[in-house]
Amino acid sequence: MSHTIQSLYRNILLRLKTIYFAEEAKAIADRVIEHFFYHTPVQRAISGNLPVSDLQVQDVEIAVGRLMQNEPLQYVLGTAWFMDMEFDVSPAVLIPRPETEELVSLILKWYKDTKPGIPLRVLDIGTGSGCIAVAIKRNIPGACVTALDISEGALSVAKSNADKLNADVEFLQCDILGEQHWHDHRYYDVIVSNPPYVTRSEEHKMLSNVLNFEPHAALFVPDNDPLLFYRAIIRFAKNRLHDHGTLWFEINESYGEDLKQLTLDHGFKDVNIIFDFQGKSRFLQCHSTNSPF
Ligand code: GLN
Repeated sequence: MSHTIQSLYRNILLRLKTIYFAEEAKAIADRVIEHFFYHTPVQRAISGNLPVSDLQVQDVEIAVGRLMQNEPLQYVLGTAWFMDMEFDVSPAVLIPRPETEELVSLILKWYKDTKPGIPLRVLDIGTGSGCIAVAIKRNIPGACVTALDISEGALSVAKSNADKLNADVEFLQCDILGEQHWHDHRYYDVIVSNPPYVTRSEEHKMLSNVLNFEPHAALFVPDNDPLLFYRAIIRFAKNRLHDHGTLWFEINESYGEDLKQLTLDHGFKDVNIIFDFQGKSRFLQCHSTNSPF
C-alpha cells in the first residue's frame, strides 16, 4: 500500500496506541516521523501529503516492529537527548535520564556560584554514554575531564559521542572495584558518578522496557550490598580527590542516609542530600578533608 507521511503517521499511531497510553503513543509517533523524514508535527501538517517510498516504509516498519516489542524509542532510533545535546545510544549503555540532567545542572550551578573560571580536573566514574562527562566539558570548557567505564562497548559509544559533540574528554577502561588500578590515576578536584544502584528486590517495580533492554550491569547491585559501588568510589575519592575536592553522586532514594553516614565515616564533610524533581532523595554532594598531598 502506498503511503503519504500523514497516512504513515496515522498508521503508526494506531498501532502504538495498542501498547502505549495515547499521549506517549503520539509523542513516539511524532519522533519516528521526525527521525525518518525530518518532519516536525507542524511541517507534517503543512506537507504531510508528500508520498513516501517503499524503501522508507520498510525502514519505518522495522523501527515500529521493535517499538511494538517494547524496545525503548531511544535504542530503536539510536539517539537520546541530554542537556539539549543529541547522544548516540546502544544497548551497551543506559539511556540518559532526566534525573542525571538535574545532577549535571546542579554541578554547573555549583561551579558558577563557587568556582567561576577556575580550571577543574573532573572524573566521571561509570560514564556509560558519556553524557555527564561530555555535558560538563561542553559547559565548562576550561575543565580537564576524564571518564571511565568497565565496559568496552560503553566506552566506544561514549568516545563517539565526545567526538560528535566536540568535547575533548579522556576515556579510560577501568573497573572501579579493582583497587589495583587506582594508582594509574592523577588527582581530581571533582569526582562525579551515577553508578548502578537499583537492588534486585526493586526489580519488580521496573518497567519491562527498562528490564528487558537496558544493561543490567549498569543498573543493578546485590540486595546484600546496595552501596557496593559507592563504597569503592568513596575510598577512591579519599585517595584521589584534592583537599576540599567535591564528590557528587546520583543515589538510590532509599539509601540516602546510609550513604551520608558512609561519607561521614570516611571523613568527608558538608554532606548534602538533594532532592530530584519528583521530590526523592536523589543526589549527594560532599567535600573531602584530605590533607594536601
Ligand atoms: N535511575 C535509573 C533507573 O531508575 C537507575 C540508574 C542507576 O542505576 N544508576 O532506571
